[in-house]
Amino acid sequence: MSDVRIDDLPVRDELRGKSPYGAPQLDVPVRLNTNENPYPLPEPLVERIAERVREAARDLNRYPDRDAVELRTQLAKYLTDTSGYQVGLANVWAANGSNEVIQQLLQTFGGPGRTAIGFEPSYSMHGLIARGTGTGWISGPRGDDFSIDLAAAEKAIAENRPDVVFVTTPNNPTGNAVPRETVLALYDAAQAAKPSMVVVDEAYIEFSHGDSLLPLLQGRPNLVISRTMSKAFGAAGLRLGYLAAHPAVVDAVQLVRLPYHLSAVTQATALAALEHTGTLLGYVEQLKAERDRLVTELRATGYEVVESDANFVQFGRFEDAHTAWRKILDHGVLVRDNGIPGWLRVSAGTPEENDAFLDAVRALKKEQS
Ligand code: PMP
Repeated sequence: MSDVRIDDLPVRDELRGKSPYGAPQLDVPVRLNTNENPYPLPEPLVERIAERVREAARDLNRYPDRDAVELRTQLAKYLTDTSGYQVGLANVWAANGSNEVIQQLLQTFGGPGRTAIGFEPSYSMHGLIARGTGTGWISGPRGDDFSIDLAAAEKAIAENRPDVVFVTTPNNPTGNAVPRETVLALYDAAQAAKPSMVVVDEAYIEFSHGDSLLPLLQGRPNLVISRTMSKAFGAAGLRLGYLAAHPAVVDAVQLVRLPYHLSAVTQATALAALEHTGTLLGYVEQLKAERDRLVTELRATGYEVVESDANFVQFGRFEDAHTAWRKILDHGVLVRDNGIPGWLRVSAGTPEENDAFLDAVRALKKEQS
């Protein structure tokens, strides 16, 4: 059996020779490689989840609420409370992680014969989900400082006339935010080329120095803001992502969603977490302070750092980033090598984890000088 490989199967041509997405899951003392929140959920919330899940369990013989009405209502309330921009149930859709939100968007607005563009380096799953949904992928440019060069981006949109435009802000893996004016200009450029959807991926927005772009939804039916509970809510294991958009977009994604895609257990857990928003956003403030400390200390040690609005920091430059990654790992600290020549990425952890990381990179600097 083991002599049969993927490429021996009649898989789709575009999947041949490809590798699945995956950061190494190594068992080391300090794991700062996947932009997770380092703080476990607080005990009262764990209790509340148990309670809500126990209630949900009594009805597990039935399919869950297919439209996740209570959850979407609470997500809308969270978005309204934190942005000041009024969104309601009809504007919000939820799925198993924002990866599934993105997949549903590409199934709806991309697909065979259509294309999507992202400005890279950025979140690699945008391109991979495009491939999985048969959507052509266009790798748009970023400047040397990893900002989006508006003229170059507008040119790429005009030339390629994509059906879906991804803008990740704050960007992963580089950490920098995209200015509001740039997003507005990209939306206009995309609409001028042909009516197309612009998906603003705000997975890390709670960590930003700036505000969410939610208010831009006003009068822009082809704009989508994608969010997740994996980062700020410290609930990556929950798998809950969501979007805010014009109600017509919410109606459209329901054409492709699997019926009952969000389990009753997921909905109950997410609702419990939303009851504890205040406490969880308190952790976000601690992480922002730690992120800023990492930036300051890395610079003081002589590293170059990209300005970060996320819960991680891209730092360099290394002659050989992969060797540097290995050496940091030798200190028991796992960071991320995204394959961007000269750069590595570290997620903000607890103060103790960040101290361990800083000790490792200081030692590395000494060795190299
Ligand atoms: N968007 C961006 C920019 C991300 O970095 C991630 C997670 N790494 C996601 C979306 C997906 O997050 P999830 O599916 O956990 O919501």
